[in-house]
Amino acid sequence: TKWVYGFGAGRNDGKADMRNLLGGKGANLAEMASIGLPVPPGFTVTTEVCTYYYDNGRQYPPELKAQADEALARIEEAVGAKFGDATNPLLVSVRSGARVSMPGMMDTVLNLGLNDDTVQGLAKRSGDERFAWDSYRRFVQMYGSVVLGVDHHRFEEIIEEAKHSSGAVEDTELTAADWQKVVAEYKAMVAQAIGKPFPLDPQDQLWGAIGAVFGSWMNPRANTYRRLHDIPASWGTAVNVQAMVFGNMGNDCATGVCFTRDPSTGENIFYGEYLINAQGEDVVAGIRTPQPMAKEKAKPGERSMEEAMPEAYAELCKVRETLERHYTDMQDIEFTVQSNKLYMLQTRNGKRTAAASLKVAVDMAEEGLIDRTEAVKRVSPGSLDQLLHPTLDPKAPRKVLTKGLPASPGAACGVVVFSAEEAEARANKGEAVVLVRIETSPEDIAGMHAAKGILTTRGGMTSHAAVVARGMGRPCVAGAGGIVVDYAAGTISAGGQVVRGGETITLDGATGEVFLGAVPMIEPKLSGDFATLMGWADEVRRLKVRANAETPLDADTARKFGAEGIGLCRTEHMFFDADRIGSVRQMIMSETEGGRRAALEKLLPFQRSDFVELFRIMAGLPVTIRLLDPPLHEFLPHKDEELAEVAESLGADLATMKRRAADLSEANPMLGHRGCRLGVTFPEIYEMQARAIFEAALEIAEETGKPVVPEIMIPLVGMKKELEITRAQVDKVAKEVFEAKGKSVEYLVGTMIELPRAALTADRIAESADFFSFGTNDLTQTTFGLSRDDAGKFLPYYVEKDILPKDPFVSLDVEGVGALVEIAAEKGRKTKDKLKLGICGEHGGDPASIQFCETAGLDYVSCSPYRVPVARLAAAQAAL
Ligand code: ADP
Ligand code: MG
Ligand code: MG
Repeated sequence: TKWVYGFGAGRNDGKADMRNLLGGKGANLAEMASIGLPVPPGFTVTTEVCTYYYDNGRQYPPELKAQADEALARIEEAVGAKFGDATNPLLVSVRSGARVSMPGMMDTVLNLGLNDDTVQGLAKRSGDERFAWDSYRRFVQMYGSVVLGVDHHRFEEIIEEAKHSSGAVEDTELTAADWQKVVAEYKAMVAQAIGKPFPLDPQDQLWGAIGAVFGSWMNPRANTYRRLHDIPASWGTAVNVQAMVFGNMGNDCATGVCFTRDPSTGENIFYGEYLINAQGEDVVAGIRTPQPMAKEKAKPGERSMEEAMPEAYAELCKVRETLERHYTDMQDIEFTVQSNKLYMLQTRNGKRTAAASLKVAVDMAEEGLIDRTEAVKRVSPGSLDQLLHPTLDPKAPRKVLTKGLPASPGAACGVVVFSAEEAEARANKGEAVVLVRIETSPEDIAGMHAAKGILTTRGGMTSHAAVVARGMGRPCVAGAGGIVVDYAAGTISAGGQVVRGGETITLDGATGEVFLGAVPMIEPKLSGDFATLMGWADEVRRLKVRANAETPLDADTARKFGAEGIGLCRTEHMFFDADRIGSVRQMIMSETEGGRRAALEKLLPFQRSDFVELFRIMAGLPVTIRLLDPPLHEFLPHKDEELAEVAESLGADLATMKRRAADLSEANPMLGHRGCRLGVTFPEIYEMQARAIFEAALEIAEETGKPVVPEIMIPLVGMKKELEITRAQVDKVAKEVFEAKGKSVEYLVGTMIELPRAALTADRIAESADFFSFGTNDLTQTTFGLSRDDAGKFLPYYVEKDILPKDPFVSLDVEGVGALVEIAAEKGRKTKDKLKLGICGEHGGDPASIQFCETAGLDYVSCSPYRVPVARLAAAQAAL
């Protein structure tokens, strides 16, 4: 077996599509080398070695050592230096790299191969004593903390002490002799901490670092991250060993991190940060302030790379173009300049905000880098959610607490918490929280996920908090140095103002501002790139997208978002309004048909005007109206004065009312007297609703001159007879209304399929139905035999233990509930081949469920208004 793949040393064994074997970093290093970009030579130890290692009691495959030695020899030859050689030493970095970039993995170790002998060689060859000792101390520090597990504070203490005794403020002021002393103290401290000497043999160092990378694959941080992101442990990580290039060898050297486009906005400009005379993570560590890439981005006092190193910058600009053309996507790159020569150390598809993702996809299609269908595929439907949600109202009054970096856009408002654990705990209770940290690290991921927004006081645009927040779509303000966070006291203070944990703040990740209290937000804009991409999506999708809406506001929103009708109007929601709840209660509490009819008479005009408004907003589009569904007791009066009011309206006494209320209460209301069972036993209710619908339809058809085709939906049908009976009531009312008004409209009568029995007998039910709409919320409850309202007590456990892959109320259970949907669709269409099929549960807005609906051949999905664009895009992707 080939366990080791070389790159850059005259031969490239790997390429970009081998990320499963080589990890993302290794595969792209090989790819960059093979398209002629300047990549320091190196080799990748494959992910299969990692798997082997864990399958074999932490042993390596026997052939590994020889393959690695051979690959190392090729690097030595390419670089012209020897690993461990005292006069001309080769130094390497050891870098982890899984298939997907994964925080929690071992940090990179740089300058490996240095010891008391080789440091002399490095000093001589470079002619720079200080550089050599600085590199050595960096190595001992990284190796000591990352591989040997010594607390990094202990290294920092030694540096602080060295600075103090030599009167230096910055690290850069320390001399070769200072660093030499630091190295000696480091080694002594490490030896004391781990109980054995610091390893000085380069081979020991190398295999120690490789072992640490594999070991980190199973550490708790990595495990948490994998769990949150559905990454199987079996993937394993690769290890990259690569010849060092030095960005810390003087002022013609630098290191940097950048994106080929702006990852916050998507704007087509070179975006990033670099530091002169620095190494590796110095850029993100926040010790010195990184400088901008492009001259036009430089603020007063800053020195752009374009100005400081014009040649290397020009080369980097060419690399930027090459990479975008080659990968046809925005890249996130890491580079180092050694003596004015550029070296590429990493490239990958850049993480970006939803806004940037949209803009980059549309721009790249318009630039001809990709085609429109590819652009449609590029944007994750779920991420649109972020663009559809409100931003801060610019006119709203606000009190600024502080300003930091605009690290991830969007507005967030919530109570202040200071730890990831508290963020999770309070979010689980339904609270909106803002996580406030000095800085974040991989162990904070779960808390960042739980928070509405993230605020840090340290770190730049490429800090951990910023990168992770952008990836998750959480608004983030980073590096807000103007505030002081005191974990112990539980306070944030800024210029005399103090905010305590539990108090509300608002942050704007697009501007970096942080405000006291809650600031009102406004609706998003849906024009421009958004409209363009949605247009392309609409061209390719087959599924129609409707919305679930009852109120005029929801219906308006739905149309604005491009809904092609209403797929579910839940009429019971119209019964709770203050102006009618009295009559609703009167209807329910009445013990006679006459009493009920009298109350329904009063409800008719309300219900009619509800439908008038909906039909007007939806003019020309289909509107599915579900007749009354919930158990009656949901409308029951609870307080004594409410009971007394109903008693008075019915001319009954309080005791009778209480008895009636008790009679109506049910042991298991979700499976009780609800849905069409009400319509069957109290026909007058559905009759009133049907009358309201038809009268409204006639009115709006006349007013708008457009056809109004109500689709009347009977809920909770389990038997064909139920539908026959209720349908007959509707048809009878239609006839009466049409005769009385001397005109008519077309209408459909259909049913929800939300009981297993309905699905299994769908061929029979279809005889009386013009359409089916799958009510997948109830269908999930009844298929699993579990109540959604109680499932919270155990479902999370089920998902965690992998008993269920996902919450079936969020994403349709294809195996079980989906099977019933398929059976019903097939049986229904056997009876009526044109039977219209839709879905109207929460699932109608879930991309994975929409994919299922496409495969099952449904005609439309219906979801909440805000999810409509998500559904349109998901439907397009499902069709591709
Ligand atoms: P991460 O996955 O955390 O980004 P990397 O393996 O990319 O870790 O290493 C972090 C940084 O270390 C790189 O961006 C680069 O600046 C530096 N680095 C890694 N390998 C080398 C090398 N061979 N020569 C110079 N710098 C390197
Ligand atoms: Mg790192
Ligand atoms: Mg990197």
